[in-house]
Amino acid sequence: MSIQPALIVDSRAARREFTQCQMCGKDKEHFKIKLSVCTGCRIATYCSSKCQRDNWPAHKQLCLQRRKTNEQTADMDRTVKDHNPLTHPLPSELIAELRSFTQKFNPVIFQAGINIMHMGRHLWQDVWRELVLMIFLSRLPDIQENSRPWARFKVDHVLPVPTDYVMNYTGGDDSFVQLRREREEENLANGYTGTITAMICTGCDSSDPPKMLHNVTFYGFGPHSFVAVELTPEWQKSFTENVEKMCGRPATELEASSST
Ligand SMILES: [Zn+2]
Ligand SMILES: [Zn+2]
Repeated sequence: MSIQPALIVDSRAARREFTQCQMCGKDKEHFKIKLSVCTGCRIATYCSSKCQRDNWPAHKQLCLQRRKTNEQTADMDRTVKDHNPLTHPLPSELIAELRSFTQKFNPVIFQAGINIMHMGRHLWQDVWRELVLMIFLSRLPDIQENSRPWARFKVDHVLPVPTDYVMNYTGGDDSFVQLRREREEENLANGYTGTITAMICTGCDSSDPPKMLHNVTFYGFGPHSFVAVELTPEWQKSFTENVEKMCGRPATELEASSST
């Protein structure tokens, strides 16, 4: 199995699922190849059926987990009445938007995660196991049809939450702990010291009953990450501002809406 070079920001690892073969690491653009998506989870991509076969032992658990989530989401989708992708979206559509947000803001999420690890480093030895970076989003009113899926949210809160407490948001589902364990092993083998867990959440009130949806992502980090990323007590503010800026919304609008 090919070893990815240890990168400062592991957002590459998350993005590579969409742009690289999961087995041999060949990049779609550099190698001018066509990637096929895993029909199980519809996320992992491969350059050939051989690569997919060879990667199956490593991919199996994550794939089955994602499949289960997809099935649960499909059940929730069926409870939605008066479906409209802009005003009354299906849970599966919202989850796709959350994934898109996660992809787009990977470096910004990583930066917030590193700041949390920095803050908690004197309290816990393995701070990345104790705290999860929780990002609460709400969908903007008046979403335009041609708007990009990642630009449809505003940040309500971004904060560190104890791992045990996160179960309150996932309805007791602790599969993210298991997924993290797997990623930890993989990241450790690639020379990282720890793995940050970020959970990106939004409420879905078009389903019956309304439900909190979440998308989990993991980032490997090492001592060098603390040099590469800006450490600031203002990290929450800068996270929100960066999202607003990258969405092309003027800063004044944010101030105006928060003062009303
Ligand atoms: Zn391949
Ligand atoms: Zn899969």
